[in-house]
Amino acid sequence: MEALHVEETLRILYRLQQVDLELDELSEGEGDLPTEVEALRQKIETLSASIAAEEEKLHALRESRAGSTQAIQDLRERVRMLNERLRTVRNNKEYEATTNEIATAEVDLQTMERSMTTFNTQEANYIRDIESLTRQREECTREMEEKSDTLSAIHDTNADEVSELRAAREALQAQLNGDLLKRYSHIRSAYNDAVVKVRKGACSGCYRALPPQTLVEMRRLEQIFTCENCGRLLVDEEIAASMTAV
Ligand SMILES: [Zn+2]
Repeated sequence: MEALHVEETLRILYRLQQVDLELDELSEGEGDLPTEVEALRQKIETLSASIAAEEEKLHALRESRAGSTQAIQDLRERVRMLNERLRTVRNNKEYEATTNEIATAEVDLQTMERSMTTFNTQEANYIRDIESLTRQREECTREMEEKSDTLSAIHDTNADEVSELRAAREALQAQLNGDLLKRYSHIRSAYNDAVVKVRKGACSGCYRALPPQTLVEMRRLEQIFTCENCGRLLVDEEIAASMTAV
């Protein structure tokens, strides 16, 4: 790289860093709101899934109950018919057989009727659960809407500034090569300040002294250096000072 090219690249890189720091500051104004909105959205999703599952159970229960209701009617009808038959039996053997059948049907009937009580208790439980889950979902939805509104208001307030900064960012990015941008983004995933000044022979990101050889080579503006300790991109203090004025 030519000296002029390196200096220009550093200047663009440093300016990009400043734009990104301004964007960071604007998104800091949103505080925890984006995280909170997302957490509420997930909670609402979970609650909806639980409600659907309970409704499914309630539906299945009501179907079983309808089946049992029919079975009870059939058994009652059977008991009635058997009692009628009892009046027309011709001998003791038939009488005994019919009485036994009635007894069996009545036992079945009692079992069925008891299961109806269980069905009704279970139904009340499902309905209560569904109501409680629905209330929770309503509360979460209200809370999420409030927070989303606040977030939107912040976005609206910053919209112009953010779009100006993003446009500036794109213009700057377009002037840098892809590898350097990748390095910059990678460093920024670890530190907000990916590009730092060299101050009194030290990296102003991690404060470690730089090897004298590096300092000498940096002044030649033949290549871009990174701090050996923290990996941040380094800009000579004098160059940085001239860039801040841009
Ligand atoms: Zn460093």
